[in-house]
Amino acid sequence: MILISKIEGESSLQAIASWLVLCTIVALSSTFTTAQIAAAPQTTAPAEVQTHPQELKVTEYRLPPDKLAKAAALYKTSTVLYLAGLVFGIVILWVLLKLRVGPALRNLAECVSRNRFLQTLIFVPLLTLLIAVISLPFDIYGHHISRFWLLTLPFAVLLIFVAPVILDPMFNSFEPLEKTQPQLVSEIEKVTQRGGLNIPRDHMFEMNASAKVTTYNAYVTGIGATKRVVVWDNTARDLTVPETLFVFGHEMGHYVLNHIYKGLAFFAVTSLFGFWLGRRIVLMMLTVWGGQWHIRGLNDLAALPVLMLALSLLTFAGEPIGNAFSRHIEHQADIYGLEVTHGLFPNNGEVAASSFQKLGEKSYDYPTPNPLLVFWSYGHPTIAQRIRFSLRYNPWNAPDRPKYVK
Ligand SMILES: [Zn+2]
Repeated sequence: MILISKIEGESSLQAIASWLVLCTIVALSSTFTTAQIAAAPQTTAPAEVQTHPQELKVTEYRLPPDKLAKAAALYKTSTVLYLAGLVFGIVILWVLLKLRVGPALRNLAECVSRNRFLQTLIFVPLLTLLIAVISLPFDIYGHHISRFWLLTLPFAVLLIFVAPVILDPMFNSFEPLEKTQPQLVSEIEKVTQRGGLNIPRDHMFEMNASAKVTTYNAYVTGIGATKRVVVWDNTARDLTVPETLFVFGHEMGHYVLNHIYKGLAFFAVTSLFGFWLGRRIVLMMLTVWGGQWHIRGLNDLAALPVLMLALSLLTFAGEPIGNAFSRHIEHQADIYGLEVTHGLFPNNGEVAASSFQKLGEKSYDYPTPNPLLVFWSYGHPTIAQRIRFSLRYNPWNAPDRPKYVK
């Protein structure tokens, strides 16, 4: 970020904004590289007795009473936290602006140093300390918006391709899947071949995830020579081989259907629009309230809370758009998973339903969330919807045709 601001000769505020963009990209790219079927990972549970996983007979998504109670409590808490966090964040920023805390901190920073970068180093941590809720998943700011925007894209692309080869092994340990689960290797090969992907056996790995998370996953990552299959070691504990193949099929769908590129393109377009809109909002707020808030202009450090306020509002307003896109590609991946495993084992719709049921139980996914909340904040279709779709999907009878895997 410092490099960017030096090259462009821009203000420290813009350096901060660059940093925010990079943080978003890091968050976004990790979402897309692992493209997990699993919900938020949970902390490690005590070691369980090793049993062979069984498929469940599922007709709809239901939780047993004890798990339902826990899921309902979790759902209520997370919804309240989501809404309260949003309102709280906006109120806090508004109050800070009204009380002219930004200008006071800026004056303090200016007393300590004349250097703009040092002023930023003083101002930002002080402001951060004052703000209890900081969530900035969206980024807007700057005079050279388009150049700024272009600079972030190659970085995002690089990160996505470098992550499986350099970053993943730094944080996780891998073993050849052929050594740990030889029977799974040939089954996965059937799926990859069916989908037209050629991944050699020595490019299939088991990742030791059980030390960190209790959820399971199996996916394709990397491109060209770095292309590889990764199966988390937890998967064999919870899922049968056909279930693992479905999960893998879903993730392979993300890969084959180029969801990484589509996600990047979507991010590029929406963030460019976000930059434009965010700048307009900040300028508008400064025109109306700038004098009252004692903010000198766009380049004033004290304008940072205004930027954050605009970010919060835009993030909230933009959430349904990003999530509708995400739900769309998740649904496509579900279709792909069902199609690519069709015929490899009997009743693959029921197998898919069983793996969703297990996923729902594992993550205490509430069966009947509010539809408005789903529309606004869900990145995946609900478990109930996914189970219903898996059990119903049957394009192999005339006149229907499968969508992706013929
Ligand atoms: Zn997915």
